[in-house]
Amino acid sequence: LLSPKGEVAPTIFAEMSALAVRTGAINLGQGFPDEDGPGEVLSAARDAIAAGANQYPPGRGAPELRAAISAHQRRFYGLDVDPDTEVLVTAGATEALSATLLALIDGPDDEVVVFEPYYDSYAAAVALAGARLRTVPLRAPGFQPDLDELAAAVTDRTRIILVNDPHNPTGAVFSPQLQTEIVRLAHAHDAVIVTDEVYEHLAFDAGHVPIATLPGAAERTLTISSAGKTFSVTGWKVGWVHGPAALITAVLTVKQYLTYSGGAPFQPAIAVGLGLPDAFFTGIRDDLRARQALLSAALSSAGFAVHAPQGGYFTVADATTLGGTDAAAFCRALPERAGVVAIPISAFVSPGSQDAYAGLVRFAACKRTEVIEEAARRLASLH
Ligand code: PMP
Ligand code: GLN
Repeated sequence: LLSPKGEVAPTIFAEMSALAVRTGAINLGQGFPDEDGPGEVLSAARDAIAAGANQYPPGRGAPELRAAISAHQRRFYGLDVDPDTEVLVTAGATEALSATLLALIDGPDDEVVVFEPYYDSYAAAVALAGARLRTVPLRAPGFQPDLDELAAAVTDRTRIILVNDPHNPTGAVFSPQLQTEIVRLAHAHDAVIVTDEVYEHLAFDAGHVPIATLPGAAERTLTISSAGKTFSVTGWKVGWVHGPAALITAVLTVKQYLTYSGGAPFQPAIAVGLGLPDAFFTGIRDDLRARQALLSAALSSAGFAVHAPQGGYFTVADATTLGGTDAAAFCRALPERAGVVAIPISAFVSPGSQDAYAGLVRFAACKRTEVIEEAARRLASLH
C-alpha cells in the first residue's frame, strides 16, 4: 500500500479529481453524481438533526434503518432478513468490505478470489487483512469471466469469493449461469460469497438479481450495498451488510473498533429513501441509462471503441484508435488535450495484468446531461 519511498499514495480517484480541479477539466473520472438526490431524503436528514439525532447511533445501526433495509430486501428480492441479527449498518460499502475481509480472513494462506478489473479498495482491503488475492479476468467484449478459469481459481484455500454486480469499472451484469457457478464453487470449497451490490438499482435491462436469492446461497453470503449511489449522497457514507447472524456478528466485532458507528442523522434519512415508491427506483435507472447512451454516442463519435455497459455508473472505452495504447499516459494528457478527466482501467488491475487492459479508459456517466454534452463537444476535438 506504500510507494517504494514509504509514502502513502493517493487513490486514483483522489489523484484524478485533483487533476480536474487543477486544470478546470470536466471530471468524468471519480464516480459521484453532480446533482443532489431526492428532496424527501435530504429534508429527512435536516429534520433528524433538528430532532437531535446527533449522538452515536447503536453499533448495529439505527433500528429504523435496519428495519428499512430488511423491508427493502423483501420488497425487491423476496429475501427474508432479520433486522435485529442479520443486518449491520456501516460507514459506506467501503467499511462493510474492509470489516468483512478483516473479520473472515484467518491467516496468510487464505485466498480471496476477485474478478479483475476490480474496485480499487478490494486489493487494498485484502492486503490489510493479510490474505492472498486470486484474480479471475473479465475480458472485452462483454467482460464475463471464463467459467473454467473461475473454477480453477477457487480451491480449498479460498475463504471468500468477492463478487461485484453490477460491476465497477466494466459495467458488466453477471449472468444467471455465472451466479449459479459461483454458488456451486462456494459450496464445493466451503467459501463465503461476499457480494458488493452498490449499483443494485442501476442494472439497465436484465434487472438485478442478488446472488443471495439463489438456492443454497443465503446461508453463506454477505450482501453489501450503500445509499451513496441509489440516493446520490456518496458523501454521507451510509452502507450496510446483511447475511447469516454468525457472520454479521463477526463483522460487527471488527466494525466496532474501526468506527463503532456513524452518520447518525443520515441513517433515518436513508430509511425514508429505501421506502420511496417504485417509480423512484425505476426512474434513477432509466435516467442513468439515458446518460450512458449519450456518453457512449459521444465517445463513439470521438473515435473510441465503446463497450456499452449493462449497468452502473461507468462506460469503458478503448482509446487505442486515438493513439491511447497506454491508457494511463492517455488519461494524464487528456485534461490538457481535451479538457476532460477519465481513469485508466490499469488502476483497477494488479501489476501482473496491466498489458491485457492497456488501452482501456473508464468514463463516468453519473453527471448532468449538459455536462456530458459539453464533454462530448470537447472530446470531438480529439481526432
Ligand atoms: N464498491 C463499488 C463497486 C463502488 O463503486 C464503490 C464506490 N463508488 C464502493 C464500493 C464504495 O461505496 P461507499 O462510497 O458506500 O463506501
Ligand atoms: N467508487 C467511486 C468510483 O469508482 C469512487 C469512490 C472513491 O473515490 N473512493 O469512481
